[in-house]
Amino acid sequence: MTQQPTMIGLTLPDVATWSQRVSVALGQNPGLFTGPGTNTYLIGTGRVRILLDTGQGVHEYLPVLERAMQESGCEALQEIVLTHGHPDHIGGALQVMERFGALRVSKLPHAGMDGHYALDIHPLEDGSVIETEGATLRAIYTPGHAEDHLCFVLEEEGSLFSGDNVLGVGTTVIPAHGGDLLDYLNSLERLLALEPSRIYPAHGPCIEDGPGKIRAYIEHRNDRERQILAALTDLGPSPVAAVVKHVYTDVPEVLHGAAALSVTSHLVKLESEGRATREDAGDGDPQHARWRLS
Ligand SMILES: [Zn+2]
Repeated sequence: MTQQPTMIGLTLPDVATWSQRVSVALGQNPGLFTGPGTNTYLIGTGRVRILLDTGQGVHEYLPVLERAMQESGCEALQEIVLTHGHPDHIGGALQVMERFGALRVSKLPHAGMDGHYALDIHPLEDGSVIETEGATLRAIYTPGHAEDHLCFVLEEEGSLFSGDNVLGVGTTVIPAHGGDLLDYLNSLERLLALEPSRIYPAHGPCIEDGPGKIRAYIEHRNDRERQILAALTDLGPSPVAAVVKHVYTDVPEVLHGAAALSVTSHLVKLESEGRATREDAGDGDPQHARWRLS
């Protein structure tokens, strides 16, 4: 899962070179939550390079990856590195290895996510370094969108591979399972402190003003929080759907499902801060609860 369906209609070229060290092959998995599809990156300057993320495992991806390798002078893959275990990032790993032979697959291990795939995961953690000719990647632990999420600094450029934490267009979904808005905001602050020159997102185009984009993401969440607090003040105790209707007046109702996910993530954060309280519907699902200010 990645971003809200505001990115429908955006298209990107299948293959592109974004810097001397970074080429992109589009995962061929466009959709409601993936926009133009997952960006998979060839990283390095040598004949053998790192592949960061693998798309979803769709048939049409391999020829695109081969073309990206050819056009960038990459003759073989050194290894696979994954930002996290959502299916549109890890799902193509097996087919890449069926085509190119066994490769080391590295990520932050997470039994609940990796267990679905027959992969022997090489464990990464915060601070892990992966090197190839012309490129050094350093892992930054950034939970919030997913519990196993890593971003990677490309040391030679001071740039950042942001995975699903910062996107080229739209905003990041905080899923009900594995998502945590408070963690996510802390991760954004951590990324902002790195002052990345540019950001290579997992979906959407290259971001030229890294710090500006991260600041806009933080402000967007702060605005939403203020609107949700104002809605609960106006409405009194309310179900999530009523808060959505009150806050998202300019958004068509077809998108209110995605908006409910976002509002719920805010309410759970406010609850953990002692600022909102839920009346549980009996199923433990925060999206079904009634909410009020504490
Ligand atoms: Zn994801």
